[in-house]
Amino acid sequence: MTRHAVVIAGGGPTGLMLAGELALAGVDVAIAERRASQDLAGSRARGLHSRTIEVLDQRGIAGRFVAEGQVYPRASFVIPLDISDFPSRHPYTLGLSQAHFERILAGWAGELGVPVYRGRELTGFAQDEAGVDVELSDGQCLRADYLVGCDGGRSLVRKAAGIEFPGWDPSVSSLIAEVEMSEEPPWGIRYDDKGTQAMGRLEDGTRVGLVVSERYAGQAGEPTLGDLRKALIAAWGTDYGVHSPTWISRFTDMTRQAASYRKGRVLLAGDAAHVHYPVGGQGLQIGVQDAVNLGWKLAQVVNGTSPESLLDTYHAEQHPVAARMLRATMALTALTRSDARIDALRDTMSDLLGMDGPRKRYAAMMTGLDIHYDLGEGHPLLGRRMPDLDLVTASGPLRVYTLLHDARPLLLNLGAPGGVDITPWADRVRLVDADYAGSWELPVLGVVTAPAAVLIRPDGHVAWAGGPAGPADPAHPGLPDALATWFGPPAGA
Ligand SMILES: Cc1cc2nc3c(=O)[nH]c(=O)nc-3n(C[C@H](O)[C@H](O)[C@H](O)COP(=O)(O)OP(=O)(O)OC[C@H]3O[C@@H](n4cnc5c(N)ncnc54)[C@H](O)[C@@H]3O)c2cc1C
Repeated sequence: MTRHAVVIAGGGPTGLMLAGELALAGVDVAIAERRASQDLAGSRARGLHSRTIEVLDQRGIAGRFVAEGQVYPRASFVIPLDISDFPSRHPYTLGLSQAHFERILAGWAGELGVPVYRGRELTGFAQDEAGVDVELSDGQCLRADYLVGCDGGRSLVRKAAGIEFPGWDPSVSSLIAEVEMSEEPPWGIRYDDKGTQAMGRLEDGTRVGLVVSERYAGQAGEPTLGDLRKALIAAWGTDYGVHSPTWISRFTDMTRQAASYRKGRVLLAGDAAHVHYPVGGQGLQIGVQDAVNLGWKLAQVVNGTSPESLLDTYHAEQHPVAARMLRATMALTALTRSDARIDALRDTMSDLLGMDGPRKRYAAMMTGLDIHYDLGEGHPLLGRRMPDLDLVTASGPLRVYTLLHDARPLLLNLGAPGGVDITPWADRVRLVDADYAGSWELPVLGVVTAPAAVLIRPDGHVAWAGGPAGPADPAHPGLPDALATWFGPPAGA
């Protein structure tokens, strides 16, 4: 039986990101992926929001995605919002299709040496106290310390682990397709009493990518060209001579979230842990964030740096993030229809979001820039994402995110050089003395007091922020506890 420390079921956006994070930390990780190649049938996500681009920047790979995408200074959550004034190096939406996103991310995971069992499906598993036996569709068995289900909304891992998936049944249904049409359709997006209708030219310039709403009546199974014709006629009064589909799929606004992100040695991330309507473009983003929150924690547990209880902070931190987004998406789903009352609601929302305060608060939530893990009382930075400051260090100017490329914990000392001693954690935490002269501006909160030192987790969130150390208290209160909580006991303890 082949052994890996971690087996990931599913090599979509979440599985690839998680595999990269684990490989960076030196963990023996492998992906089992049903698809024979990374090619993606049809279109799903169309772009990246600010925090997702920042997360990629923390690993030094954002440029690869930006180079192939289209930068828009706005984010559109049914109502378009200007985000160009956000305190981020990436205050924009990056237009990039999921197929390109996955290809680039798979390239990165490949460079990090992640093996992929391609064209092989995970068909079952059994966990015991020491590990998990994983069965693949070709009969091969793998043994792992941990199994992570990144196998999408219909997750076999979630079902086989017996993890409940409570939430809301669908209320609307849409068909999405790539087709040819013998008549020219009206291009663009239309909201009507049935939902959202959209027509656009595909990259080849001749075929049509479309979304059309259908009446939800418990449809299951694969949609047909006949279903598409019916829905087009219901929405537009004609099917525009639709023919030669290369892809037809169906999605609904079913909204559900796993009751627990962990059961023993089995964890869930991405769509396997949460599903919702695609409006607002959030699924891929939360999946990537799940992966980056879980990756370093799982690596530390596998490497013996931290106790298994560290894994429970993954659910504690990321479950509320997705729960909030599910709620926001349900609200947006209502706005994707059109009648006199919904139009009035959309106009009211538009007016409110035209004001600076509501716009900043709402867009910071939808772009992931305001994510705040509850790590207790303290400096406003605590639990929030570290801003990408321009530092001056002994080795010259450096951005904070450059110091996170290798996904190691970082203690940034912005006070007197040599003023912080973390010798008992020096094997795990990098200490950098730096100067920073600018202001500390956070999304929504605005300018906050400059800390004298900051402990940054590999996912870019602040685990501790301290005031200046003085002669009476040279030790920075709370720092040893934070180091031990997040990065294991001191050496020699
Ligand atoms: C029409 C549409 C539009 C969307 N638009 C957006 C958008 O604009 N922005 C956004 O952020 N999100 C969007 N999404 C959501 C986004 O596509 C998903 O949230 C995202 O793909 C989730 O990534 P994942 O890796 O968690 O799951 P998936 O992408 O579903 O990947 C799961 C992987 O697991 C594999 N797999 C499944 N079962 C097994 C098994 N048993 N064994 C081995 N492999 C298995 C699959 O082949 C797949 O590669 C959209 C979705 C749809 C349907």
